Amino acid sequence: MKKYDVVTSISYPKKGAMGKTGSWRVFKPKLDKNKCVKCLQCWVFCPEGVITKNKDGTIDIDYEYCKGCGVCANVCKVKAIIMEREAEG
Ligand code: SF4
Ligand code: SF4
Repeated sequence: MKKYDVVTSISYPKKGAMGKTGSWRVFKPKLDKNKCVKCLQCWVFCPEGVITKNKDGTIDIDYEYCKGCGVCANVCKVKAIIMEREAEG
């Protein structure tokens, strides 16, 4: 059977003309690493590509570019991510 390579393109955020766009955020995703079961659903669905997966399966969120959309919290089945209002000032 013939095999095909699956090639997908993933664009990662980087500093552009608009600077560090995380400053627009009103709500911030807060991760509880003790609750996280490493399913990577948040990594798959984050529309900004700002969630990184580590070698041990844990994840990290890049707050310099995260826009606080809440998709990650919504797809997390174990509620390891909750959205908190950004501190003012
Ligand atoms: S969706 Fe939730 S449980 Fe899954 S990796 Fe993300 S934070 Fe962890
Ligand atoms: S709040 Fe939105 S942009 Fe920020 S990490 Fe979650 S899914 Fe990505």
